[in-house]
Formats: sequence, structure tokens, C-alpha cells
Amino acid sequence: MAQEKGRIFIVSGPAGSGKGTVVKLLAENYDSLNVAISATTRKPRPGEVDGVSYYFISKEEFDKRVGNGEFLEYACYSSNYYGTLKSEVDRIVDLGSDVILEIEVVGAMNVVNTYPNAITIMLTPPDKDVLEKRLRGRNTEQEAEIQKRLARAKEEIMELPKYNYSVINYDGKIDECANEVYSIVEAIRKGTDEARQEVEHLETKNTKAIIEKFRN
Ligand code: 5GP
Repeated sequence: MAQEKGRIFIVSGPAGSGKGTVVKLLAENYDSLNVAISATTRKPRPGEVDGVSYYFISKEEFDKRVGNGEFLEYACYSSNYYGTLKSEVDRIVDLGSDVILEIEVVGAMNVVNTYPNAITIMLTPPDKDVLEKRLRGRNTEQEAEIQKRLARAKEEIMELPKYNYSVINYDGKIDECANEVYSIVEAIRKGTDEARQEVEHLETKNTKAIIEKFRN
């Protein structure tokens, strides 16, 4: 895969950060950004379509693909496996388009090891009360699963310093959040010091204070 053909933008964020919606908005609004569809062993949620949301596959199939070296990275999250298919990333960057990987922290750092130029962006809710409200509001998981995701979400936010940028997704401000993420994409594409300065306030060295809002 030729990195120079297309850039890799990694968007992470705990459940409740709104990253799914933000990534969808970006892909819809900008032809130059395409989302790589991951493979997962998780069962589809209502409304999720195979080959659109994810490639839903069995654990056996997942293991086979791991063995065949088909994944750029993969990770276990809440007892399910998720992986980025090399074929998906190749397909997108070969078109000259930039690719968005919507993946969790472990996978994100593995991609950065392979592609040090990949740009990492973490989306967060504004604080832990909003996070909990959003997780409960989604109403797709059992209580035990919610508790597990809440704990995992807080852990993930503690990893924010490993990322290049972070953006807060405030209630009712999803478009603003997507625009801020896109402003990072544009600044990286321009590549000038001036452009990067415009998004300096979103660099994690300037946004670390958000972590304190998620400590118990
Ligand atoms: P969900 O089950 O809510 O769709 O996703 C759970 C977590 O897995 C999210 O943090 C999501 O970003 C992450 N994820 C989705 N696809 C991948 C992937 O291909 N690789 C990795 N490492 N994480 C993924």
C-alpha cells in the first residue's frame, strides 16, 4: 500500500462519543474521505447492514483471516473481535482518497506503528455524566454491558495523550464536531505551519484537561 496515495485519519472515541455519527457525516459530506468497513465477530444491532456497517463474520472466519494476514490491525473489544481489512484500506487509498478508520485505541496505535504518518483524532463526550446518559439512552445494551462499556470508555479517554488531536462532541452540536474534525483533515492536507496553527487548540497537548472530567 502506497501511503502517499491517500492519507490515513484514525477517529477513535468511546461509545457515547458520537464518533459513528460524526464519521458518517464526514463520509457523506466529503467525497475525498472514505470510511474503511471493518470486519467484526459482534452480532449486528438492529438496523445494521452487513457490508455497510461492518462485515459481520464468525470467530472462525475471523481467525482464518488473521491467519491469512488479511488485517492491517485487529483488537478485542468487549469480548468481540474487530479488524481493519488491508483490502479496504488499499481500495480507498488507491483511488487517491483519504481513508478514515473508526477504530479503538489498541488498533489505532498499531496502525500508527505501521504508518507513522497516520493522524489520530479522539472524540470525547464533554464529561462523564453526559457519557453515561448517552450510553443509557442508546438502549441497545443490557446493564452489565453498559457498565463494561462505561468503564472501558473512561479507560479509553485516559489514552487521549497518545493521540494527535481531540475534539469534544457537545450535546446537540454534532455538525460543529464534524466540522472541527474536518478542519483537522484540511490542515493536514495543506501541510503548512500556518494551517496547522489553525487547529493547534485541538492538539492533545492543549486538550488534556478533558481527562479530569472522567476521573471517578
Ligand atoms: P461497536 O461495537 O460499538 O460498533 O464498536 C466497538 C469498538 O470497536 C469501537 O470503539 C470501534 O471504534 C471499534 N472498532 C470498530 N472497528 C474496528 C476495527 O476494525 N479495529 C479496531 N481495532 N477497532 C474497531
